Formats: sequence, C-alpha cells, structure tokens
Amino acid sequence: MKEATAIPVVRTETRRIKMVFELKKDLTEDEVVCGHCRGTGLEIADNVYGIQGDAISAKTRFPYNNQSLTVCEYCYGGVLKKCPSCGSLIGKKNYECPCGISDKKRTEAYEKKSIQRWEEAKKIPLKEAWEKYKCLYIENIDEFVFDADENEYWIEDYELNIPDLKIYATTKEMINLDAGSVIEFTCSELHEDAYDRCDIEGLQKILDKWCEEQTGTATYFPDYSVGVIL
Ligand SMILES: [Zn+2]
Ligand SMILES: [Zn+2]
Repeated sequence: MKEATAIPVVRTETRRIKMVFELKKDLTEDEVVCGHCRGTGLEIADNVYGIQGDAISAKTRFPYNNQSLTVCEYCYGGVLKKCPSCGSLIGKKNYECPCGISDKKRTEAYEKKSIQRWEEAKKIPLKEAWEKYKCLYIENIDEFVFDADENEYWIEDYELNIPDLKIYATTKEMINLDAGSVIEFTCSELHEDAYDRCDIEGLQKILDKWCEEQTGTATYFPDYSVGVIL
C-alpha cells in the first residue's frame, strides 16, 4: 500500500480588505456609541492557522490569519447604555450597573407599592379568611399557607417576628380543557365536516368533570384586593 503524501498548500496572496461606510445612529439620552467597535457592533476576530511542514511554521506556529467580523463583545448593536443613576457605562457583561442605585430604587418602589396595596385592600379577620379560603398568602416571606389548624400558631408566631405582616386571600386556578380545541385538533386530518358533526357540549361536560377531579393541579395566586388581619 502506498503511503499518502501531503500535497503542499501554498498561500499565493494576502488580501487586505478595507471598508468605508457610514452608519446613522439615533440615540436616546442614556445611550452612547460604543468606543470599542465605533458603533458598528462588530469587531475583528482573528482566526490564525499554520500549515504542517511549512518552513515558516517552525518559527511561529500560526503565521497565517483569516480574519472576519464578529459581534462586539462590549455592546449590543454598537450602542452602550449609561446607568441612569450614576452615568457610568453599562457593558454587555453587566445586566445592570454595579453601582446598585437602580436596584435600591426598585426595592424602594416595590416597598412603596406593597404598602399602598395593603392600605387599599379590603380587610377581613383571619377566622373569616380560613372559612372562605383554602389557602392564604403571606407576602413578607412569599409563602402560601394552607391548613387553618396547622397554621394558626405558626402565623401568630410570624406576627411576633415580622413587623407589618401582610397576609392576603388567594384565587385558585385548576386545569381547564376546551372541548372545541380538542375536537378541532383531533379532526384536523378527517373530512371537512367532521368537526361540525361532533357533540362539543357533550365532551365539554365530560372534560369539566374530569378537570374538577384533578385537584392536584390547583394553583393559588395572591388576591391583593383582600387583606387578612389577625
Ligand atoms: Zn461595541
Ligand atoms: Zn450606576
């Protein structure tokens, strides 16, 4: 068997490509053109390589380059955002400015909203709440509590430890299946009148009954319109 001999590859030319173009950039107050990529949103990526057996390769392993453009690592679309709080530039690596001012402002805004929500809520006593709702939501610790007997003392305990305890009623959602959609999907491969010949109402009754039995799907959401007082 003959040994395969490598065919020498010769680089016959080096081309240098120069690009001149103009970009229009409409910026908001908080935006500046990225200095790294000069607003192009692109930067030059090196893709160096060498050729086995090449004389030059002995000196520098990868003497050749096939440069191309890649996305700028500092910005999105050639634009950097300034932090609205301290004015420093926010790079791609930081979702938010490390100064933390925006975060603090957001927390303050959330707390303000939380207080306002509590003040505006209709209030009912805890005993009444357990009669009406299977589940209550304690906003301060972001927890849902379910059993009245089990949680009576527990909630009182929290009241001692957490000032301004905010407990809310909840709304409940369960699995829901629409007969019309089920039939439509199932008839899609059948003759064109198949859907119209189906008893949608009949299936809906069966589905409703089935859904009702799937108690494990019950999902609770805070009802901020009803507050619970101890
Ligand atoms: Zn850039
Ligand atoms: Zn900042």
